[in-house]
Amino acid sequence: MAFEQDKICIRGLRVFAHHGVYEEETRLGQTFVVNASLFTSTRKGGMKDCLDDTISYADVCQFLTEYLQQNTWKLLEAAVEHTCRALLLRYPLLQKVELELEKPSAPIPLPFDSVSVCITRSWHRAFVAMGSNMGDKKGYLDGAVKALKEDSCIRVKQISTYYVTEPYGGVVQDEFLNAAIELETLYTPDELLDVLHDIEKAAKRERLVHWGPRTLDLDILLYDNLIQDDSRLTVPHPDMENRDFVLMPMAEIAPHLVHPVLRKTMRLLLNELQRK
Ligand code: ATP
Ligand code: CA
Ligand code: CA
Repeated sequence: MAFEQDKICIRGLRVFAHHGVYEEETRLGQTFVVNASLFTSTRKGGMKDCLDDTISYADVCQFLTEYLQQNTWKLLEAAVEHTCRALLLRYPLLQKVELELEKPSAPIPLPFDSVSVCITRSWHRAFVAMGSNMGDKKGYLDGAVKALKEDSCIRVKQISTYYVTEPYGGVVQDEFLNAAIELETLYTPDELLDVLHDIEKAAKRERLVHWGPRTLDLDILLYDNLIQDDSRLTVPHPDMENRDFVLMPMAEIAPHLVHPVLRKTMRLLLNELQRK
């Protein structure tokens, strides 16, 4: 984290490829120019002077060339989106990438130097709460962890202990099994929520009574330091500071993590809630 501004830069890599909206473009091809900034801590490679501890720019140039030649997209937007994802998946040391794809011979009947699309994509750190109070509760939580691990755009970093807790919200029902997970993801918060809903659906989750019994409930607690409140998604989760079944697992896996709105650590929030 301390070296998050470090980057390895590639400028002006020329790749002959076949992206474009027009048929001639995909048939004949043209030269594209790639500029990339690879955000990765260069500290270890720098101290040890060893290629194994960093990202090889020669390898990245080779990969970019092959990837852009083996695929065809109509839009530069699609080409950069897919290429960023492929880079972030291929290089474990890569935290963030800024990628610009220029098309100097784009079909524009006017004098111009170049057009390009430039985007920045990165891994994001998120925390997810899991809960189950029907049937094979441990099986549902284990199944959710397995499904998250199988998704290439998610890296599960930590899983808390499973906590047996009392039901919340006044509905009479069986006790819960709750846990929290730390993950890194390439998904946006909304995409992550879709993934969580799909996993819930696969566990035969039905939304019958609000806060009622459920096979599996997956909530986004935190996503980087994002603060968002719209009709579909509120992050940080709006009620997390009032729930010991959320704060206990969070204080276990991320005691010093600071809530971006309340500006208190998970451990302090739990201590305050337990004193109430
Ligand atoms: P609670 O959110 O109070 O824990 P719940 O989990 O029982 O209640 P659900 O029926 O699972 O509520 O979800 C209702 C809706 O809440 C979801 O469809 C989703 O759009 C929305 N929602 C808003 N913020 C979040 C969040 N941070 N994580 C998950 N769902 C959220
Ligand atoms: Ca919930
Ligand atoms: Ca939910």
